[in-house]
Amino acid sequence: KEEEDLNLKKFSSTGRIARLLAHEVKNPLTTIVLSADQLQMELPENILEESGDLIEVIQRNCNRINQLVTQLLESTRFTELDIANYSINDLLDESLEQVIDRVQMKNLDVQKDYQDEICNIDVDAEKVKIALINLLVNAIEAMPESGGKLFLKTYIKGKQCRVELKDNGVGIPKENLERLFEPFFTSKESGSGLGLTNTQNIILSHGGSIRVKSEEGVGTTFLLSFNLSS
Ligand code: ADP
Ligand code: MG
Repeated sequence: KEEEDLNLKKFSSTGRIARLLAHEVKNPLTTIVLSADQLQMELPENILEESGDLIEVIQRNCNRINQLVTQLLESTRFTELDIANYSINDLLDESLEQVIDRVQMKNLDVQKDYQDEICNIDVDAEKVKIALINLLVNAIEAMPESGGKLFLKTYIKGKQCRVELKDNGVGIPKENLERLFEPFFTSKESGSGLGLTNTQNIILSHGGSIRVKSEEGVGTTFLLSFNLSS
């Protein structure tokens, strides 16, 4: 018990430092972006033609830092959950809607197999949607340029409501499986490695669970489990 308290304290002080750092980074970052934007407007054409790319490099990388910091803030925030009753099918559909551009751009074939009976859970909808969107984005990113299939399934198992998100993407090498949920673990060139950390935190904070099955070159399935509303 004492050890648990200690861990909690350590975790929350790390969270505080992360939040402080994130805020401190955001202000100067905004100044850099604004200055770069202004340079882009004010520099004469001939100079812009020669060195305009450099300004874009600044803007692009600032955006990247900004995203990272925002995600870091998100993942360390302990806000109270805003719980209400939702249909898991609706939450999944609304999450899919948020990434539909990317689904269409990759021409993915989305197949749904949703539980007909009422499959409701008591959750913070905004948080759970963030978790689902993270999983959907990973699946989309793992998928080939053509022939990608995304399979979404919901069903009731005992007193649990389950969600399966299955893709036929690149899959995950065995040695990466255990590191997947670690903060900043990524195999992508410009990944943050915070998506799954966030997702796991959200699911666990709702008393749910998340598991993954994957085979390299075949695809990946994430399995979520929530308590059904009583
Ligand atoms: P990021 O997407 O920024 O890399 P995540 O935490 O979302 O960070 O994911 C961590 C890593 O897990 C990814 O870089 C990728 O290697 C692996 N991964 C997650 N989901 C999938 C998936 N559906 N298919 C293949 N690899 C995945
Ligand atoms: Mg991700």
